[in-house]
Amino acid sequence: MTQPAPRNPTRTVRAGPVRIGGGAPIAVQSMCATHTQDVDATAEQARGLAAAGADLVRVAVDSARDAAALRELRERVDVALVVDLQEHYRLASEVAPWVDKLRYNPGHLHHHERKRTIEDKVAGLAAIAGEHQCALRVGVNCGSVAPEYDSRFPGDSVGAMVACALDHCELLDRIGFSDFVVSLKDSDPAKVIDANKRFALERPDVPLHLGVTEAGLLPDGEIKTRIAFEQLLAQGIGDTIRVSLTLPNDRKHEEVEIGHRILEDVQHGRFRSVPELSGLNIISCPSCSRVENEAFVDLAQKVRDLTRYASEHDVTIAVMGCRVNGPGETDDADLGLWCGPRHVNLKRGTEKLGAFGYEEVLDRVRTELDALIQRRS
Ligand code: SF4
Repeated sequence: MTQPAPRNPTRTVRAGPVRIGGGAPIAVQSMCATHTQDVDATAEQARGLAAAGADLVRVAVDSARDAAALRELRERVDVALVVDLQEHYRLASEVAPWVDKLRYNPGHLHHHERKRTIEDKVAGLAAIAGEHQCALRVGVNCGSVAPEYDSRFPGDSVGAMVACALDHCELLDRIGFSDFVVSLKDSDPAKVIDANKRFALERPDVPLHLGVTEAGLLPDGEIKTRIAFEQLLAQGIGDTIRVSLTLPNDRKHEEVEIGHRILEDVQHGRFRSVPELSGLNIISCPSCSRVENEAFVDLAQKVRDLTRYASEHDVTIAVMGCRVNGPGETDDADLGLWCGPRHVNLKRGTEKLGAFGYEEVLDRVRTELDALIQRRS
C-alpha cells in the first residue's frame, strides 16, 4: 500500500476558525450555487454544505445587494465564509467585515479603474483583509489569466498561470501580507498537476488550494478530480480542496462528501484513478449565484446524454452556467455553450454560432458534433 508523502512545509493561514497549511488537516470547501442575496436559500445551502463536512463555504458577490446580504448570512450560519470577488474586487471593504477569507482573481483586476496599477489594487485588498483579519486567496484560473501573461507565454497556459501566481505572491510579500493561499485551476487534470507542482517547487511555503475547475457531471467529474488530487496529495501538495461538480442545488453537498472520500482514500494509499483520459470530454461548471436559468444543470446532462454516441472521439464540449465567465471558459473547447436567462449561446472553437432556445440548441450541438467528427475522419 502506497502511503502519501509528508505534506509540504507550508505556513499556516487562518480563515476564521479554520487553519490552512502548516500541517493542519486538509480543509474541504465548497461554494453556494444559490443567489447570494436570497439569504434564506443561501443560508440553507451553506448549512447543508457544513453539515456534509465543509470547513469553508464560498459565496459569490457581484453587486452591492449581494454584499449587503452577507451581514445577515453571517448571523445565520456558523461555518467559515469566503467571498468570491472576481471582477468586483471594489466590494471588498463592504464584505470583509462579515467573512473570513476573500478570493480575488488576478485575471479580473484590470477591467475597472484602468488608471490604477495592479500593485495598488492588490495593496488595497491586502489592507482591507488585514484590517478585518481575513485571509486572501490568489485564485488563478485557466479561463481568465491576465492578458499580459497570455502574451508572455504563448501556447503555455500552465507557464502563464504559474508566473502570474508567483508574481502576486511577490507583490503580497513586498506589502508584508502573508495570510494568503494560492490556487491554480484548469479543467484539465494534467494541467492542474503540472501547475501546482511547478508552483510548489518555487514556493513550498505558500498553502495551496486544489481544484479541477468545471470538472462537470458525475461520474466523470469525480474521476477528473481524483486524477489531479491523488497525484498532488500523494506528493504532499495541497492544503485545502474543492471538488467542482455540476449538480442540482439539492445535491451540492455531494461535492463535500466526495472531497472527504478522496482525502480518506489518499490517506490510506487507495488510488482509484488512471492518469490519462481520452475520448469525449464534457466540461461543465459547478454553477454558482451567477446562473440565470436553473435549466443549466439539466442542459449539461442533456448534452452529455445526446453526445454519448461520440464517446470514442477526442472532442471537448464545454457547458457553462453564465454569461460572465462562459465566453472565456469555453475558449479552449471544440464546442462551447454558455447560458443566459432564456437562450444558450453556442460557439465552434472561437467562432460564435448564435443564441438558441434551451431545447433548440441540442439539435444544433448534434449537427456541429457530427460535422466535426466527419471533418476529422
Ligand atoms: S461559469 Fe459562471 S455560473 Fe459557472 S461557476 Fe463560473 S461563474 Fe458560476
